[in-house]
Amino acid sequence: MLNIKVFGIVQGVGFRPFVSRIAVANNLRGTVANRGSYVEIFACGDADDLKNFLAALQAEAPERSAILNVQTSELPDEYFADFRIVESVHEAGDIFVSPDIAICDKCAAELFDPTNRRYLHPFINCTACGARLTILKNMPYDRERTSMSEFPMCDACAEEYHNPASRRYDAQPICCNDCGCEVYLLNSNLRGHDAIKSARKILAEGGIVAIKGIGGFHLACDARNVDAVRRLRDSKTRPNKPFAVMFKDIAAVERECILNAAQIPFLDSPQKPIVLLQKKIGGSIAPNVAPHINRLGVMLPYTPLHLLIFNFPDELKAFPDALIMTSGNPSGVPITIDDADAVKNFDFCDAILSNDRKILLRADDSVMDFIDARPSMIRRSRGYAPLPIFYDGGKRSALAVGGELKNTFCLAKNNLLYASPHIGDAGNLQTIEVLEASIRRMSDLLEIAPDVVACDLHPRYRTTALAEELAAKLGVPLIKIQHHYAHVLSCMAENNFHDAVIGVAFDGTGYGDDGTIWGGEFFICDANRYERAAHIDAFKQAGGDKSAREGWRIALAFVEDLDVARKLELADEQNLRGVKFLLDSGINCVTSTSAGRLFDAASAILGVCKVSTYEGEAAMRLQAAAERSTKSFRAGFASTTELFNELLRRRLDGEDVCDLARFFHAGLAEYTAQVAEDLSLRAGLKTVALSGGVFQNSLLSSLTSDKLRRRGLTVLRHELIPPNDGGLCIGQAVYATQN
Ligand code: ZN
Ligand code: ZN
Ligand code: FE
Repeated sequence: MLNIKVFGIVQGVGFRPFVSRIAVANNLRGTVANRGSYVEIFACGDADDLKNFLAALQAEAPERSAILNVQTSELPDEYFADFRIVESVHEAGDIFVSPDIAICDKCAAELFDPTNRRYLHPFINCTACGARLTILKNMPYDRERTSMSEFPMCDACAEEYHNPASRRYDAQPICCNDCGCEVYLLNSNLRGHDAIKSARKILAEGGIVAIKGIGGFHLACDARNVDAVRRLRDSKTRPNKPFAVMFKDIAAVERECILNAAQIPFLDSPQKPIVLLQKKIGGSIAPNVAPHINRLGVMLPYTPLHLLIFNFPDELKAFPDALIMTSGNPSGVPITIDDADAVKNFDFCDAILSNDRKILLRADDSVMDFIDARPSMIRRSRGYAPLPIFYDGGKRSALAVGGELKNTFCLAKNNLLYASPHIGDAGNLQTIEVLEASIRRMSDLLEIAPDVVACDLHPRYRTTALAEELAAKLGVPLIKIQHHYAHVLSCMAENNFHDAVIGVAFDGTGYGDDGTIWGGEFFICDANRYERAAHIDAFKQAGGDKSAREGWRIALAFVEDLDVARKLELADEQNLRGVKFLLDSGINCVTSTSAGRLFDAASAILGVCKVSTYEGEAAMRLQAAAERSTKSFRAGFASTTELFNELLRRRLDGEDVCDLARFFHAGLAEYTAQVAEDLSLRAGLKTVALSGGVFQNSLLSSLTSDKLRRRGLTVLRHELIPPNDGGLCIGQAVYATQN
């Protein structure tokens, strides 16, 4: 008899029925069971049959599963009459929780088949698709340990659930029109199909509807209706920040955007992230959906309810094939998940389409860009979290609370780093409460009791205070890790790289060892220590928090001369004089090496964007301008001051703004590659890791990588872990587990 333990994503993806099927096909007798952290098989039979069974186990595993390790051992034969699936027994160990999975093709076909008993059922799912992480209370993954425990199965569903030949054998969230969850409009008595029809009518007429999805509410409206989009912007006080658009299908996407071969498999994957695509000229998406930039965040429907909203067979003559689908949350606060908050937060909506399946863990949509035809994650959340990444050499378990903006946290154990879905901006108390509750839920789920807690070095981050509190409560040590070092470590971890590197962290803001603001850093480092080997030229940031939003303030620090500043119309006279005074006297100024602020300054000098209304706006618009230029520039600069002087000179000469935006990107990339090369010679290192939010800029990232490779250096980049603060927790966890 063989005892086989299969580790990986083997829960909630139809793994046990699959094992049962191939065991029977190979004439084996025995059992298969979920053990919480792995699937355990006892199999008796002929040696050849056992061999074929093991081969099939690897080769034919269900498409949503991922086998990471198979351990087999020989045991004396026992008597089994047949092969069967036995009850889940819980054992501790490494746990792989499946992320939520978009609706599969088979379920989508049944959804619109009038003869199917789940015709138009908004919660249709199977072992290959549906909610997972967001409805899970604890492991092992069984119906009674999910939000679905409140909904007893009807006889027909129970029969499928227990029938190994069914697609829904062992599908925990199974339900149908006769049992299970239901959609309804809040503050109305419309339920089920009537609620969906009413929501469709409101959307078609230009209204705004809040819709409860897998990981939280979305706010939806017709993406081709300028007035609807404007109303949504006014209600959310979000003047410019781009909205994501959900298209009915790929054909609708292709009408509006340029879609390349590398992007389609991600856009249409079971994860269904938002993918940033190039807008086509002359498209019909309202210009205020993503103003001033040439990209659009695009996703495809990923729940049955989305498909019903686009395609419900009712009497409506026309329905938009592109809907804004933006996270439903008051500014800065995590995504709304329950009805009481929805009523409070969405009073400006014309309807709220909710349902009675509880969301236990929030999951915003993931957002992905592409750099050189490779994915570049901007926000790693639904569909990806909490899949772990591997980084060996871990000595202890850890909780890393992440940074302040775009907060995520990480739990780590046995060389596995599990990053949470996106939590939000932890600058306010409400987010901190959600962060704390999510930490509790995920540690329960993954059964990780941390030996150490890690956080940022920043003394005023709310996450630092939370980490101090949690460490004290758990009675474990607290480790504070420098922000940009954590960025570089996250990049090393994603690439499973252990040797020393030249780490380049270009970022908005992070607290430096010397108490100044860092963010344009060159490190020589490994997982145990770092040296700040170089940095961009320091400048003054005048006016506290305002200096992070108002790029013209940084620009003035570079321009220095008030007459030149007036000529560039950086700001009105009063503001110019005010900030000039601060800069000259040093009052309310901090010293900064933030590369993010360099982009803000360049954007202001070129008149592209002088004040940002959302984080990253000035840089995104500068990149969009640069991408309109076809010129190439080669000039090298010994320092960022030199680069700015030249940029300013050319600007005053009246050179084209788009060309100059390109010049700035190329100049910064050349400078970066040159500094890295110098350090490479000095330290004898050949590998450069690029991290920090500035490297989300696909043009800068691409140019810098190219220039580094031309110098014979190997480049480590992010792909599925964000280079921005959303990936910070991973770097913190690396340091905390390795030291
Ligand atoms: Zn399915
Ligand atoms: Zn049912
Ligand atoms: Fe950062």
